[in-house]
Amino acid sequence: MGTRKIDASPFQGELRALEQAIQACEAFPRGRLNAEQGFLLNPSLTLLEMEWTGLAAFRQDPTSRPQPGEELLAVWKAPASDEVVLQKLSQNELLAIKIVHESMDLHQAAREGGVSLGFIDAILLQAVASGILLRAPSRLCRPVASFPASLSMAEGYRSAPTFTLQWHVTQACDLHCKHCYDRSDRTMLKLEQGLRILDDLYRFCQAHNVHGQVSFTGGNPLLYPRFKELYQAAADRGFLLAILGNPTSAAIIDELCTIQVPEFYQVSLEGLAEHNDEIRGVGHFGRVLQFLEILRARAIYAMVMLTLTQGNRDQVLPLAELLRDKVDLFVFNRLTLFGEGASLQPVEVESYDAFLADYEQAASRNPVMALKDNILNRRRQLNHEALFGGCAGFGCGAAFNFVSLLPDGEVHACRKFPSLIGNIFQHSLAEIYHSPLAERYRRGSEACGDCRLKLVCRGCPAVVAGHGLDPFVDRDPYCPSSLDQE
Ligand code: SF4
Ligand code: SF4
Repeated sequence: MGTRKIDASPFQGELRALEQAIQACEAFPRGRLNAEQGFLLNPSLTLLEMEWTGLAAFRQDPTSRPQPGEELLAVWKAPASDEVVLQKLSQNELLAIKIVHESMDLHQAAREGGVSLGFIDAILLQAVASGILLRAPSRLCRPVASFPASLSMAEGYRSAPTFTLQWHVTQACDLHCKHCYDRSDRTMLKLEQGLRILDDLYRFCQAHNVHGQVSFTGGNPLLYPRFKELYQAAADRGFLLAILGNPTSAAIIDELCTIQVPEFYQVSLEGLAEHNDEIRGVGHFGRVLQFLEILRARAIYAMVMLTLTQGNRDQVLPLAELLRDKVDLFVFNRLTLFGEGASLQPVEVESYDAFLADYEQAASRNPVMALKDNILNRRRQLNHEALFGGCAGFGCGAAFNFVSLLPDGEVHACRKFPSLIGNIFQHSLAEIYHSPLAERYRRGSEACGDCRLKLVCRGCPAVVAGHGLDPFVDRDPYCPSSLDQE
């Protein structure tokens, strides 16, 4: 059967205009597809108001039949692939273009559209993903001056696309763990203060071209009396949400999921049942296992964190094995000697490397076991294995891609040790983030000097401080001493 020929003459002129737009787009220099701040309309974008529909399909398949009728086509060069895209735009894409083209205030756009700020953010980010809009690169970057001689495979860890507020919304807790680093009384957070903090975080993320995440924690964050309202308000602003807490009921999880499904829910275990319950209270182990089933039934990403001590190091691998089909991720942190944790025995420095070797080997066979300790990157470098992001995705992330906020407004570089960098009720997050003190925590210890692993390591300053050393001067005592500049 021969190919049926379509008489193209009625829409020949429109087809020509389309081809010209495509050619212009192909010639558009890729180097100009950059934004310096915020969102920018892709400068290669051309909108074509057609009086025939189906012309894009006709270019691909000359046997298809365009029809008279209005259609808005868009042609642009995608910055990621350098390819020319031709397609009809969705209502959301048109709205994203309008918002950026008219420099609309995002709050106003949300109000006028009767949608949440988070919805507006989502359509802007979707338009960035398809290349219709460009977004300026993250302004959360490690300065080359402070991090000069990194390994090339660590270079990808210079800049953070997401900023996390680790928010201890309450000190209240239904457990009393032996290693708790802070049982102090602090002023209760008022909901109005919480809403202002979320607005401040939103401004910070906009100004730094990053996506915001709120990781709610405590105490037990669910014991904060206005938790659901705060969770809803954070969802309305388009933040990614996570919970680091204790087991709770299926009903509460379902309620939170109707607002927004958390990116992950993290609970803690300190070893197998007997040891765990000695630290965290009788019956806790069983409650956690039941709770993990609740998370699993709802496909919520479940994480279990263990605080590593000399007392539980032999239980880490058996626990990880037990959790193999019950969690999405299992990980450990070294004990920091603060608060009530100071009475526990930290894992031995001398045998730590052997422990890491066993852990890595087990992790290669157990997909839920994740790597977290920055120091592991030293082993990986020596074994010519790929480096990883360490504790916070960028080595120590203290005051870099996250800060910890306490109910009374204190902002700490990391909650694992006293590292006050300001109070959010007195200064904005941006002022605190760019303060010289926060900068000191970001820079890390002088002892890491020229170490080429600095971008993905810098040890754990909380462990350093817990050992009575100076986190700005001294090296993590668990860092193998032979690893200076190579
Ligand atoms: S201080 Fe330690 S626990 Fe805190 S972010 Fe840095 S490496 Fe992680
Ligand atoms: S010197 Fe610092 S950055 Fe280098 S491996 Fe040791 S702790 Fe990590």
